[in-house]
Amino acid sequence: MKTEITNAPCQQGVDPELFFPDPTEYEKIREAKLICGQCDAVTKNKCLTFATENGVQYGIFGGLTDHERQLLRRREKKKYRQYVSVIGEY
Ligand code: SF4
Repeated sequence: MKTEITNAPCQQGVDPELFFPDPTEYEKIREAKLICGQCDAVTKNKCLTFATENGVQYGIFGGLTDHERQLLRRREKKKYRQYVSVIGEY
């Protein structure tokens, strides 16, 4: 599909378009997430990391939509700010 991961469930004859739904195509999103749910944790993490590190703003990666990845990034930033406010930067 979108990464170099070749043994993933999304690589087993699934239409790649399924992973690039419009935001209101809920059934497609649900179906893609079900497939991602079959992905092993290491592969799923690689997939999610690929999307977040490359700022991918579309598609489902690591079982998350772009909107969900944005929420995750915000939560991580917030956690980091809280950490820095307690521990300080080093
Ligand atoms: S998590 Fe990524 S690699 Fe795994 S099935 Fe979903 S889109 Fe494919």
